[in-house]
Amino acid sequence: MTAFNFAQWPPHLSDKDRETLQFRATSYALSHGLLYLPTGAQPPIPTSAIHAPISLFPTPFPRKLFEQAQNLQSIYNVLYSRIAMDIQFLDRVMGAIGEVDEFTGHLWSGWRQLRQEGLTQPLHLGLFRSDYLLHQRGSDITLKQVEFNTISSSFGTLSERASGMHRSLESSTHFFHASPHLTASNFPPNNTTSGLVAGLVAAHNAYNVEGSKILFVVQRGERNLFDQIWLEYELLERYSIPVIRRTFDELSRQAKMSADTAVLTLELPDEAPVEISTVYYRAGYTPDDYPTSTHYQTRFTLERSRAIKCPTIPLQLAGGKKVQQVLTEPGVLEHFLCDKEKYGTKGVFPSQALAEIRESWMEMWALDFEGDTGVKIAREKALGVVLKPQREGGGNNVYKEAIPAFLDSLPAKERSAWIAMELISPPAGLKNYLIRAGTGATVETEVVSELGIFGWTLFGPGQVVSGKEVGWLVRTKSKESNEGGVATGFSVLDSLLLV
Ligand code: ADP
Ligand code: MG
Ligand code: MG
Repeated sequence: MTAFNFAQWPPHLSDKDRETLQFRATSYALSHGLLYLPTGAQPPIPTSAIHAPISLFPTPFPRKLFEQAQNLQSIYNVLYSRIAMDIQFLDRVMGAIGEVDEFTGHLWSGWRQLRQEGLTQPLHLGLFRSDYLLHQRGSDITLKQVEFNTISSSFGTLSERASGMHRSLESSTHFFHASPHLTASNFPPNNTTSGLVAGLVAAHNAYNVEGSKILFVVQRGERNLFDQIWLEYELLERYSIPVIRRTFDELSRQAKMSADTAVLTLELPDEAPVEISTVYYRAGYTPDDYPTSTHYQTRFTLERSRAIKCPTIPLQLAGGKKVQQVLTEPGVLEHFLCDKEKYGTKGVFPSQALAEIRESWMEMWALDFEGDTGVKIAREKALGVVLKPQREGGGNNVYKEAIPAFLDSLPAKERSAWIAMELISPPAGLKNYLIRAGTGATVETEVVSELGIFGWTLFGPGQVVSGKEVGWLVRTKSKESNEGGVATGFSVLDSLLLV
């Protein structure tokens, strides 16, 4: 695919030049809000902010494959919108998992109950992020999807700042002469903040009530505060839309839904109640966010209301790893993308689009595939496989040599909650300098970089408005660790250098 030699990255720098560059990188981060909160203080306070973990150099990435990932996004936006509106499909695929996985079960059965009672808001807002790794076989490098996120897709705004940081290092003579690839035209634009906010504004405008506000549902003690706050400033400064941040705990006391109109309001001490147009979840994707049944009830109150949810429960369920696996089964992609009767002639995608989507997938299978067969294959191929449950946020998967013992301990009836996926194998030999959050401590290590493409859709029956591709993210981790996850501390924010 490309003549670029990944094993020769990064360019050589003297210790002194590297220190200069690192000083510029961390100064840029601190002065441009590329920030993070440290561990320790609980809840962490903004005045303890530190720079986010970052890579010193941007990561080389084949231009064609980047463009391919951008182009796939418009298909994925429509695909996941349609999945979220296909109740029968979600009942079949995720409803079944709900019987063995408590978290999925709570969400799905709560949603089913709400459907019976009658939901009042037909629109859903999705702020998505489709994640990819480069996959090398011989000299052939292709793009492979890791997963598709439909809830709480994070690091958009910080990623924009990380690309700004690498671009600004252009001005450093040391950096610029280091490699002929480090030229302005190889740094693609990255406008995630305005792109993601365009989605939130579209929902707010569709709700169309003067004086209403957007609610961000957040986790207590969130370390990634600044990534969220940049969205708030864009909403306020560019669109005069105020944001209210609340945890599920606070909402259990303050969120009220009118029984007749289903209008969602927050009752604040000493203030007039505030009407909510849009609920944006940066929490709610893990069972840890629902320690009691009251927390689920709060989620269901928001779901039942007229406010537009990003995401709704069905859209969250659509992002399950199980759905990703079922999409690879024969005919499922056709069901969503080629049904002329359901989606009209204009809503049907050409077979080329389906082929491109399929080419971006690794092989996946259900762990409960044909009795014991799914488990048997997972054991046989273990060293080239990852097992995934229906969870988000990192740290939940089982890899390679850990698989056989895990399978020994997994009760047979819980297999259906897991999928198996072949491991993607990124180009070897690529190195970078990873700068730890705050401390500035740097390690030079062989790395793997994951590209995320953001996109949004506002959709409901007969209506899809979508921003096809609204920026990107690169997270880079040491090759040694199976998983990335900036929040879980194994990876850093990075950016693209197209080659
Ligand atoms: P989560 O929703 O928890 O982020 P992911 O599916 O993204 O779950 O998996 C977490 C991480 O595990 C990814 O960021 C990636 O580093 C690694 N990973 C997941 N699937 C694969 C795969 N098929 N091949 C290689 N690495 C993978
Ligand atoms: Mg992920
Ligand atoms: Mg995820």
